[in-house]
Amino acid sequence: MTNLCPKKQLHAQSYKRLAWILGDQLNYQHSWFSSPRSDTLFVIAELRQETDYTCHHVQKICAFFASMRRFANHLQSQGHAVLYLDLDATAKTKSLSHLIESMCERFKVEEFQYQRPDEIRLLEQLRCLSLPNSIFVSEQDTEHFFLPFEELKSYIKAGRHNRLESFYRKLRKRFDILMDDTEPEGGQWNFDEDNRKKLKKADLAEIPSPLVFKNDVEDILASLEKHDIEVFGTAQRNLLWPVDRNQSLELLAWFCDQALVNFGRFQDAMTGQGESKWSLYHSRLSFAMNCKMLSPEEVVNASITAYQQQPSINIAQLEGFIRQILGWREFVRAIYWVNGSDYKTLNHFESSRALPEFFWNGKTKMRCMSEAINQSLETSYAHHIQRLMVTGNFCLLTGIDPDQVDNWYLGIYIDAIEWVELPNTRGMSQFADGGIIATKPYAASGNYINKMSDYCSQCHYKVKEKSGEHACPFNGFYWNFMITNRQELAKNPRIGMLYGNWDRKPQVERDEILNDARANLLRLENL
Ligand code: FAD
Ligand code: SF4
Repeated sequence: MTNLCPKKQLHAQSYKRLAWILGDQLNYQHSWFSSPRSDTLFVIAELRQETDYTCHHVQKICAFFASMRRFANHLQSQGHAVLYLDLDATAKTKSLSHLIESMCERFKVEEFQYQRPDEIRLLEQLRCLSLPNSIFVSEQDTEHFFLPFEELKSYIKAGRHNRLESFYRKLRKRFDILMDDTEPEGGQWNFDEDNRKKLKKADLAEIPSPLVFKNDVEDILASLEKHDIEVFGTAQRNLLWPVDRNQSLELLAWFCDQALVNFGRFQDAMTGQGESKWSLYHSRLSFAMNCKMLSPEEVVNASITAYQQQPSINIAQLEGFIRQILGWREFVRAIYWVNGSDYKTLNHFESSRALPEFFWNGKTKMRCMSEAINQSLETSYAHHIQRLMVTGNFCLLTGIDPDQVDNWYLGIYIDAIEWVELPNTRGMSQFADGGIIATKPYAASGNYINKMSDYCSQCHYKVKEKSGEHACPFNGFYWNFMITNRQELAKNPRIGMLYGNWDRKPQVERDEILNDARANLLRLENL
């Protein structure tokens, strides 16, 4: 698929304005598209720059390209002039900047418009174009997030810890979401205490089958092969992810109808059993939202309507869900922009170990890691606790180089775009920002994984053992991490008291745990 408008026709008509749409700017409701503008040519392009900035999961590229193509078709069906450039058309293009410069020249436009990108690298590119002075350049908003871009600095301070809770409460009040006048609806701001249960056997049968799609992406797969694009993960000819607004709305309706009722309750639970084990009660809406096919506002509103109409949904489930979108999603975006490009270089614990090979092939005897990684390779998805407390926790405890950790998360997940991936990975999961996001490192032994999952009962390792050949590696790594960083962590009121447990252990036991952990660190690849 290339030019949706045939080349001749495009040349025959002159356009005053070129308007650029990036792959994550598929906002069907953007004011740009409220009525056709005959003087404007919209351009959407598949670019090597984007397929190659990291090695991506094959489903991620397929989902982006399929969604971009559907979006272009939609715009054209609405009477807009669209130029869609596929990989064949852009193969010789060095970069986005070069492509824009050459397109402006080709169409001899007077104006170039773009929507402000959500990534620093793209914003820098678009703000540094070499266009003739005669071309008027204008940067516009994506009309997607709750908080206006210009106001992020008034909510978040750079280089220091900011509390999600106070940020979230401010947004609840400002946007009048789940508010009863000036008080939080339900009398509490936070229902975490009621949430976060482990799945019992009887609960497993109740989990709804996830709604998945069957989008034919054979032509995209062929194009990736033709252009030798390096990818990893399981390729699906029938892609399960939503690739247009209708499918995104369908997934939202499915979530409100089937999954919201237990969203908070089982938000942190993990299981290795059943067809729905990979998505549980999670929405899987992150890709649709991050590409802007759905706005966070409409997702929040749909969940509130479902709560009002379905007595089985209680406030704890609803609040838990809204907290993720109005709270965490807006919060990490603000952290990303306010802290700027330096954030990407932070490495608080000076971690430098290489990411083990099993992150790329799932071959490990640790059942929790094998489940989280293999599922990610198969579906390009893992839910938050799998990312944070299994794979992220492993990297934190074993001191993996945060650049390599970022690279993996940025490539593997369907929803991974730097503005949201980076603060979550480098900040929340690796504490490489020294506490800008989290108040303490999310470090946990096998005990936590055992508490929230059924993985351990069928693992090669024994979760209750702390040293010895069969001991769960997370146990030793946890104490090794805690002892290595004792000077700093002991001062943290949320962690300090844990050292009492350690100090009460006999010296010989402590030596065994640390010696085994250090030996395991030297043979990570074989765990
Ligand atoms: P649900 O559990 O259904 O949550 C609903 C929505 O809330 C999500 O769709 C998402 O938009 C939002 N949300 C929830 N938690 C967060 C969060 N911590 N930050 C931002 N938004 C959140 N999310 C991404 O969108 N892209 C990423 O690249 C990404 N990388 C992550 C890396 C790590 C190490 C961790 C710990 C988390 C990461 N997250 C990322 C956040 C979160 O894990 C995903 O948003 C979530 O798993 C997506 O699945 P879902 O749509 O089913 O979410
Ligand atoms: Fe993971 Fe340890 Fe449990 Fe095995 S025993 S599943 S390695 S936490």
